Amino acid sequence: VPELPDVENYGRYFKRHALKKPITGVAVGDKRALDHISERSLQDRLIGARFVSTRRHGKQLFARTSNGGWLTMHFGMTGQLAYFKDREDEPQYDRVRFDFGKSGHLGYIDPRLFGRVGFVDDPNAFIRQHHLGPDALDAKLTFQRFKEALAGGGGLKAALMDQSRIAGIGNVFADEILFQVRLHPLTPVERLTPAQLKALFATMRKVLKTAIAAGAGAEGYWERLPRTYLLRQRHKGGVCPRGHGPLSIMKAAGRTTYFCGQCQKRV
Ligand SMILES: [Zn+2]
Repeated sequence: VPELPDVENYGRYFKRHALKKPITGVAVGDKRALDHISERSLQDRLIGARFVSTRRHGKQLFARTSNGGWLTMHFGMTGQLAYFKDREDEPQYDRVRFDFGKSGHLGYIDPRLFGRVGFVDDPNAFIRQHHLGPDALDAKLTFQRFKEALAGGGGLKAALMDQSRIAGIGNVFADEILFQVRLHPLTPVERLTPAQLKALFATMRKVLKTAIAAGAGAEGYWERLPRTYLLRQRHKGGVCPRGHGPLSIMKAAGRTTYFCGQCQKRV
């Protein structure tokens, strides 16, 4: 499931393959992938224009067009982007295809169709309407703002995954962050000491940046993560990278959660 690090790398991929090329066509393979816009309106907005820049907020990706206005992309459970030179190489499950004349095509691929592609005039309005909190890697997210954003009750995992508090973290990276900082997923936010909160903030940023640098979003990228990472062991039979034996599995925030009962004591 694409989370902040994956979407950050999708954004870089989009930049590499889709910026500055005249858009000559838009083909919608499945209308369910569209977010409150018709195929016709999307074509009207895009054909003849170019993508000029990208912006990411949490798990949401935006691409500004030369006509003004922004393409919006959310990747749901299984979404990703794929560039291909020839139409005959179009991947399966291509839900929205952007054509760039002789410069190839970019496909928005989503087998399970939980993601959405749309178009807005103002990404800030979009972020407000979707009640997204500050982006987890935003330079303007100071420790003070992080502390305020995270407050509001509940266990740590639920708080980290709540997109209205902090945007970008999902099931997998919540587990990784909490393992790295040695905090239990069900420990209430309010129980943390100021030092623990500071460590959580620093660890959140470090984990997300490490995953981006390791190539999050690409198949098998987790093999390039440090050996100390839970993600490499986040499967049945996985063990604590610190040598404590099998990981524990439970439900937290309604999601399957991996943690080490030795490293992460509940308080
Ligand atoms: Zn452990």
